[in-house]
Amino acid sequence: MANSLPQNPRILIVGGVAGGMSAATRLRRLLEHAEITVIERSGHVSFANCGLPYHVGGVIEDRESLLLNTSESLGARFGLKVLTRHEAIKIDRENKQLVVRDLAQDEVVALDYDVLILSPGARPVVPPIPGIERALTLRDIEDTDKMIAAVANAKTAVVIGGGFIGIELAENLRHRDLAVTVVEAAPQVMTPLDAEMIAPVQDVLREHGVDLRLGTSVASIESDQVTLADGSTIPADIVVAAIGVRPDVSLAVSAGLELGPNGGIAINENLATSDESIYAVGDAVEKSDPAGASRLVPLAGPANRQGRLVADVIAGRKISERPVQGTAILGVFGLQVATTGSNERTLRAAGVPMRIIHTHPANHAGYYPGAEQLSLKLIVDPATDEILGAQAVGAEGADKRIDVIATAMRGGLKASELVDLDLAYAPQFGSAKDPVNMLGYLDSNLTEGLVETIQWHELDDSRPIVDVRTPAENARDSIPGAINVELDGLREHLDQIPAGAVVYCQVGLRGYLAARLLSQHGIKVVNLDGGMRTWRAGQSSKAAPALVG
Ligand SMILES: Cc1cc2nc3c(=O)[nH]c(=O)nc-3n(C[C@H](O)[C@H](O)[C@H](O)COP(=O)(O)OP(=O)(O)OC[C@H]3O[C@@H](n4cnc5c(N)ncnc54)[C@H](O)[C@@H]3O)c2cc1C
Repeated sequence: MANSLPQNPRILIVGGVAGGMSAATRLRRLLEHAEITVIERSGHVSFANCGLPYHVGGVIEDRESLLLNTSESLGARFGLKVLTRHEAIKIDRENKQLVVRDLAQDEVVALDYDVLILSPGARPVVPPIPGIERALTLRDIEDTDKMIAAVANAKTAVVIGGGFIGIELAENLRHRDLAVTVVEAAPQVMTPLDAEMIAPVQDVLREHGVDLRLGTSVASIESDQVTLADGSTIPADIVVAAIGVRPDVSLAVSAGLELGPNGGIAINENLATSDESIYAVGDAVEKSDPAGASRLVPLAGPANRQGRLVADVIAGRKISERPVQGTAILGVFGLQVATTGSNERTLRAAGVPMRIIHTHPANHAGYYPGAEQLSLKLIVDPATDEILGAQAVGAEGADKRIDVIATAMRGGLKASELVDLDLAYAPQFGSAKDPVNMLGYLDSNLTEGLVETIQWHELDDSRPIVDVRTPAENARDSIPGAINVELDGLREHLDQIPAGAVVYCQVGLRGYLAARLLSQHGIKVVNLDGGMRTWRAGQSSKAAPALVG
């Protein structure tokens, strides 16, 4: 057992949801004789916080189904003492005591511990906007009940913040027939994704009646409206603040525990804080990304994993805490939006060199009914071929591709090794060359020098541009200044193609074929990565200048 703990150690856990309850139940499986007490401020433990927006929208109808366990069931099965409506208010490190307030009785008690685990999670950011007191936030069951009551009498809603929770709430408030406006200070929603990947997300929101106000902020909140920075007003029976979360470090700070560079609790590779009797997990702590940098990653998977690992450490088992890639997914009006690792914007800001690949395959064989187009982006270290990140957007199959790439990253596969993945295939599920394999082929073509590509935001009028699609496609939509020489007649019109030109097609494939054909005739060109589709998506994004700059 860690730190030569007594035979029946007294273990206190602050926070009874993802990280805290994973730790508690794993501890019981390993230490039958430990005295394990969970202290939880809200009225519930072990609830499904990721399901809360869907209960607001009525998609998850039964409130009870969000309550995965109760104090009683956890007591019966795991012998846990669970104190709900109890708030930990102070850590007395010298005497190894946790001071706890019983919120129902308004009584304060001091509990002894041999080991203390902090899993207090994160708190919604509440910006200092006049009138913000009226804004609702969503973190627990009590917040959900409050929001449902407010929605019942509302016709209009303003959601401040276009991140995961803001977008999930916007969708669910539309399910409740409210007129919904999302106000986002960034020029796009869902900033974990890059600008050119986000167009379908914004399109689907608008198609479903969500009014997006991007690149602006809320200046004040009045009783029935909000006022934006430009002075315009939006009716708002309810206002939701979904600007993001900050690690809840109040207890740790008052106890003098060290914080990391991003304001989360600093922990070592054994999840111990700067006090060796106190461990911390979940949204409240700093995590390492694959490059070794400290990050805040407020997601359920890492919190649950750390909860289990900390129990292992306390029980004296060896662990290996892995970097957190930040793999995440959002569903919005039938669209899947998934990401893992770093995005282009943050890597570019950090001056990291990268190779980028866009592709737009069907999620399964195109001849099988119901095929849907996916947009995939892979970001690779050009020196090592290491996968730095990936993004996928589509009606189906984005989840599977990002999970496969996340697994490849965890296993240390190089981008070109994605071609070797032996993935399940039948026409209704994928393609004999799965989109993930295709990313590997595209990467190999680039590393082997078979083709050179240019990104949508690198295209300017310094090079001639050749559209190799059909004249009909060219007539529908084309890049200004491009000449049209269709791929199928290219061999007869080689004299029309200037060396150094950019060739493009709809999604990048015909452009690649043209580039290969032309290079073998001694005409070197570059292919527009992801074709017209990626270029057009990038143009429609207001975030492009920030990315280029
Ligand atoms: C609406 C919503 C939707 C989400 N959807 C997803 C999703 O789809 N996918 C995903 O990966 N992640 C999602 N998350 C994030 C995920 O829920 C968190 O990353 C995860 O729950 C973090 O676990 P944790 O143990 O660190 O904190 P939590 O699970 O938040 O638990 C912390 C608990 O500690 C309690 N607490 C705090 N301080 C004290 C104190 N002093 N005394 C006593 N108790 C205290 C709090 O009341 C809270 O219940 C969502 C979160 C929310 C709010």
